[in-house]
Amino acid sequence: MTTLSLQKYRRITVKIGSALLVDRGSGLKRDWLTALVDDVADLIEGGAEVLVVSSGAIALGRTILGLKQRALKLEESQAAAAVGQIALSSAWSDELNRKGLRSGQILVTLGDTEERRRYLNARATISTLLKMDAVPIINENDTVATTEIRYGDNDRLAARVATMMGSDLLVLLSDIDGLYTASPAVDPNAKFIPVVDRITPEIEAMGGGAASELSRGGMRTKLDAGKIATLAGTAMIIASGTRLNPLSAIERGERATFFKPSARPVKGYKTWIAGNLEPAGRLTVDAGAVGALMSGKSLLPAGVKLVSGTFSRGDTVAVLTPDGHEVARGLIGYDSADAVRIAGLKTAEIEAVLGYQSRSAMIHRDDLVLGAVAAELPAAG
Ligand code: GLU
Repeated sequence: MTTLSLQKYRRITVKIGSALLVDRGSGLKRDWLTALVDDVADLIEGGAEVLVVSSGAIALGRTILGLKQRALKLEESQAAAAVGQIALSSAWSDELNRKGLRSGQILVTLGDTEERRRYLNARATISTLLKMDAVPIINENDTVATTEIRYGDNDRLAARVATMMGSDLLVLLSDIDGLYTASPAVDPNAKFIPVVDRITPEIEAMGGGAASELSRGGMRTKLDAGKIATLAGTAMIIASGTRLNPLSAIERGERATFFKPSARPVKGYKTWIAGNLEPAGRLTVDAGAVGALMSGKSLLPAGVKLVSGTFSRGDTVAVLTPDGHEVARGLIGYDSADAVRIAGLKTAEIEAVLGYQSRSAMIHRDDLVLGAVAAELPAAG
């Protein structure tokens, strides 16, 4: 059995699922939190910086408000989050104080990581908090997030925060102890996978779709988180949090799945592009263009077969192979209406169609990131 050590990591983001922290009947699981904070304090004592992404606001708010049984309308969830978040933060602050540690609450909305200016702003604030030796306690701002504009699950939020902050490790604690070839709840032959070298389509197929009632993220969102993390050079661990002291349990060799970081991670500005959660559009390109991208070239209009979605210049779009696999992501040089008009055209033909002179690339190489799938395609000849 391989034992994973957390000691060598310097900046660790830990995501905690709602069901670990909150019991539907009795509310906050204080003993569990106390033990977890002991683990966090040990890591900090060992020289690491720790960021916490804590779920549980809505679940805790429901319990406090006595809204346990029925499904909630959006505005009721938002109100429950408001009540739950204040209780959640104060519990974190009390427990960290007990260990002589300070904390700061950060509530983010989707735009805070997806828009470049706000991303830089959020990063600066969290960096400052870390410099001041305060533990950032992060959650989605569920009180203002609406169905259309939200992360929805804290797995991807945690991956986005971890990579934004240059964490070298992301730990996802939930009620499952790792990745299996199929869901162990439905398939008794499901095999445990201790180490994932790269999140291939085969690995993704193991993820299925299920999510429990209290938490929104299932294995699918955990694998999405893994893609964001590993591509940016952040290792990821999925481990069970259902026991006390779940972080020291990983050290002791309890079951957990380790996702290796990419050997050639994207850096800086490209980390933001690569982790973008919802591309605004899709460009299907021909095999020649795939080869050109893989040898480090820009995407030219000539290689684009199909443009879908409505986007503006500067939005993130996904680039798909002819058989529909995402091969890259990048910031598009044209609005969607113009992209449709020039798809398939040679550079010399573009000005006549658009009526203005423009840069020739559909996506410039500086604004382009090759995705996880690209690593599996045959190299360009
Ligand atoms: N942000 C939600 C909450 O704090 C949880 C989202 C999730 O379960 O992933 O209640």
